[in-house]
Amino acid sequence: MVVSHVLVGLGAWVVAARLGGTAPDALPGLAAAAAGALLPDIDHPSSWLGRRVWVVSKPLSRLIGHRGLTHSLLAVAGGLMLLDALRPGRMLAGLVEPLAVGYLSHLAMDALTPAGVPLLWPWRQRFGVALCSSGGAMEMLVVAAILAAAGWFVWR
Ligand SMILES: [Zn+2]
Repeated sequence: MVVSHVLVGLGAWVVAARLGGTAPDALPGLAAAAAGALLPDIDHPSSWLGRRVWVVSKPLSRLIGHRGLTHSLLAVAGGLMLLDALRPGRMLAGLVEPLAVGYLSHLAMDALTPAGVPLLWPWRQRFGVALCSSGGAMEMLVVAAILAAAGWFVWR
């Protein structure tokens, strides 16, 4: 669910920023982490992001399907290389890390579902632990546990 991805993306960024000595509460970083947490599902026209950018989402879905390339480490590496090649200005460059952390948090969350994620795409092997289904009560419990752990880590 979109709310779960955003919350876990924000939590992951706050922990990562704390580990890296960066201010985790800067609004641009939080916004980038939230955006990154939603970005992988651009390959799904019915997703929250896919409905808003259907011009991209529909052809992408037809071309590569859902939970394919966009849910892989190749997408993360390719995205980082693309952003590096675009040489963003100093302010935008500061958004790359939270964007990547949010993106990776999405892959980790999807890996908790029975469908798993093809981390090593184009190899079709899916990785995951099938802990919860999307949208169920267990998802909320997992999200609450992750946020509690992140909160404990940051404020201990
Ligand atoms: Zn996804």
